[in-house]
Amino acid sequence: MAIEKNILITAGDGIGPEVMNEVQKIISFLNHEGLANFHVTERPIGGASLDAHGVPVTDETLELGKSSDCVLLGAVGGTQWDHIDFALRPEAGLLKTRKELDLFANLRPALVFDALIDASTLKPEIIRGLDILIVRELTGGVYFGEPRGIFDLPNGERQGVNTQVYTTSEIHRVARVAFELAQKRGQKLCSCEKANVMESGKLWREEVSKLASDYPDVSLSHMYADNCAMQLLKNPRQFDVIVTDNLFGDILSDEASMLTGSLGMLPSASLGARDANGHQNALYEPVHGSAPDIAGQNKANPMAAILSFAMALRFSLDLPVIADHIEAAARAVLDQGLRTGDIMAEGCTQIGTSQMGDAVIDELKIKLMKAA
Ligand code: NAD
Repeated sequence: MAIEKNILITAGDGIGPEVMNEVQKIISFLNHEGLANFHVTERPIGGASLDAHGVPVTDETLELGKSSDCVLLGAVGGTQWDHIDFALRPEAGLLKTRKELDLFANLRPALVFDALIDASTLKPEIIRGLDILIVRELTGGVYFGEPRGIFDLPNGERQGVNTQVYTTSEIHRVARVAFELAQKRGQKLCSCEKANVMESGKLWREEVSKLASDYPDVSLSHMYADNCAMQLLKNPRQFDVIVTDNLFGDILSDEASMLTGSLGMLPSASLGARDANGHQNALYEPVHGSAPDIAGQNKANPMAAILSFAMALRFSLDLPVIADHIEAAARAVLDQGLRTGDIMAEGCTQIGTSQMGDAVIDELKIKLMKAA
């Protein structure tokens, strides 16, 4: 019996619908082959939802997101909505979705494909074979802590205030996600903070350490976040999984993903807590935005969306082997020299969004046939 799951697709704006169309093709293929029984519901988000419903995400979409096994998002935003009040902007729809679904763990892999090794600004020998996963705490820390604001002081100066705040439960839940992911990967977890100068960092280190005995197969290390930023450039392959707070994670995950050199290739996942019935809210999306400059021209690279779907298959849809096959298919397509414009290189063949999706499916068919 093929695995039965409910997927909510919110394609969004700009290149969102184009790249999600390629994901839909893979879903249809898996359903057609009897490898899955995915029920897809589609809803607008961002500017598309604003135009259709007057809000960047509706309550009905949020409820659907909570009851689905996962949400697959394209991208939101576009210049036509830039003049609108911040609370109604397309990006607010995405932020609200993350908040309502309580997606506290943001997963950003940095994976270097051999065929794209020259796209990185780092030397090939430093990044060849790189495969890191950064787990960033997404709903706490200095971006949300109180007090916050810009205050007038009695001496006439102004003071900007943000507060870094973490509780043990906030640290434990994201650390457990990271430990569990490390168990499924290289069994190494590096926790990053600034325990040398911040109390919140000291607490973070103590609390993460307390959990280590629950995961005896994972080797836990600690690193100051500034050193981690340096080590990511010096010797990135020393890392397997990195777990860190919201602020440091924001910076370190951007740094790590750029080691791979190509925005159109970067997937991400955001996960919530698993409830007593085993349900976990989850949102999968490319790291890139809606790229209005190339929208509607069959130029967008769909790989980030396709690789995000592979993450969904692994973490939410119970089909990790198909996830492996899709990633291998993506690698094979690049090895053939097929490229969208953003990753085009000398000697390669430039193709469009839909051709790239077709090429991945063709390779997927070959991988599945070989595995049968
Ligand atoms: P962007 O990621 O959309 O584009 C940056 C550059 O990268 C552009 O030149 C674009 O053409 C290119 N690019 C991005 N994705 C690509 C792909 N898959 N294939 C080929 N080229 C690609 O970032 P931006 O220009 O800063 O923002 C554009 C809009 O997207 C804004 O409205 C912004 O708010 C929004 N945005 C949304 C998200 C999201 O939905 N998660 C993230 C970032 C930006």
